[in-house]
Amino acid sequence: SVRVRFAPSPTGNLHVGGARTALFNYLFARSKGGKFILRIEDTDLERSTKDSEDAVLRDLTWLGLHWDEGPDVGGNYGPYRQSERNALYKQYADKLVQSGHVYRCFCSNEELEKMKEIAKLKQQPPVYTGKWSSATDTEMQEELAKGTPYTYRFRVPREGILKIDDLIRGEVSWNFNTLGDFVIMRSNGQPVYNFCVTVDDATMAISHVIRAEEHLPNTLRQALIYKALGFPMPQFAHVSLILAPDKSKLSKRHGATSVGQFKEMGYLPQAMVNYLALLGWGDGTENEFFTLDELVNKFTIQRVNKSGAVFDSTKLRWMNGQHLRSLPSDNLTKLIGERWKSSGMLMESSGPFVEEAVHLLKDGIDLITDADKALSNLFSYPIHATLASPEGKVVLEDKLSEVGTSLVAAYDSGELNSALEEGHSGWKKWVKSFGKSLNRKGKSLFMPLRVLLTGKLHGPDMGEGLLLLYKAGSCGVVSPQSG
Ligand code: GLU
Repeated sequence: SVRVRFAPSPTGNLHVGGARTALFNYLFARSKGGKFILRIEDTDLERSTKDSEDAVLRDLTWLGLHWDEGPDVGGNYGPYRQSERNALYKQYADKLVQSGHVYRCFCSNEELEKMKEIAKLKQQPPVYTGKWSSATDTEMQEELAKGTPYTYRFRVPREGILKIDDLIRGEVSWNFNTLGDFVIMRSNGQPVYNFCVTVDDATMAISHVIRAEEHLPNTLRQALIYKALGFPMPQFAHVSLILAPDKSKLSKRHGATSVGQFKEMGYLPQAMVNYLALLGWGDGTENEFFTLDELVNKFTIQRVNKSGAVFDSTKLRWMNGQHLRSLPSDNLTKLIGERWKSSGMLMESSGPFVEEAVHLLKDGIDLITDADKALSNLFSYPIHATLASPEGKVVLEDKLSEVGTSLVAAYDSGELNSALEEGHSGWKKWVKSFGKSLNRKGKSLFMPLRVLLTGKLHGPDMGEGLLLLYKAGSCGVVSPQSG
């Protein structure tokens, strides 16, 4: 049965790269009716924090990537934090000592440094050439009796090639002679990362390891440990890097890179998930809009690309707009209404004004946070302030004399107000006759009128905007600090 895991190290925030790895694992598990497991790799005690673990769990939950087994929900293969599995690592390390795959190495740090220097001078790879790989039992017992500290070192075959059939990259092979005997347990009893991962993946019955390309060098070590322990190897799939637009590795200097930051900025989890899936995957058609359920139905690991994918924040923003507008209208209205209320722009988060304002403004919004600007643009129409003040009138008459003069006249006579009071049809009728009296229509009427009434060259439908402003005034939905 399919069992995959996402195995973050809790040393910071969940980044888009990690989130994409989690997503691919999730999609693979769900599309195969398998299990998605969350394992916390906190062997680096100094850099791991509980806050970071909590943040990772929170961000995965926000994205909708729910796990079947993990540190919070438990499961039959726990514990799900490496820091709680030390007894298990010790048990398997001892087993490997017994079978001769691992030996005790009593070399001091100075000796090891010297070996490295010599290898460097000879331009050889830094493989372990110390005596402990072939030491006799008596030599070893002597050191043990003296209490000399020792590490556990894995005996790497001197010759041979390891081949794996990576589900994304195809055949990958390594020559054993590139690798020296490596440490699996330090002298303080602390197991080394590659060893923990192997023991965990094996004992958690992981069938497929889907992870970032940067772990490819670890795969050789892990494969050797699998073989030594007699566990069947999982299938590997190494996902390519996420690149910045300049093709360098995506990092903080390129702007927001953590899931939490995007959440703060007003992105929807649906859009994040959709965009992350497209970083290296596509269904083979032009279609780019997918819900999480659709991704589960369409996802295959064979369609994951082996070249790096460029993170395009403009496209992510655009995609968010697509998802925002595809929300059921009630949800969108609620989301935006609550935003307006909580940012102090409106006194009520629902009602006819909110409904109409969302309807009018939604096409100009990509992020939920854009809604504030859109509404404040509407409230900044200069119609009241300008038309009602003597200086304003002078400016308008001066600027766009013909249309301006007539507009001031229409305002003064009350004609414009009563048209707006009549609503939609009143406004339509008024604009038509206003244009007729000036012998203007189309652009030559609407452009100056828009500038005069809204103070802007572009915006949502002008009549609808003005009617909403009137409504805002008469409904009292606007709080004192705005408008
Ligand atoms: N803990 C590793 C990381 O956060 C993942 C290792 C793996 O997936 O094997 O990069």
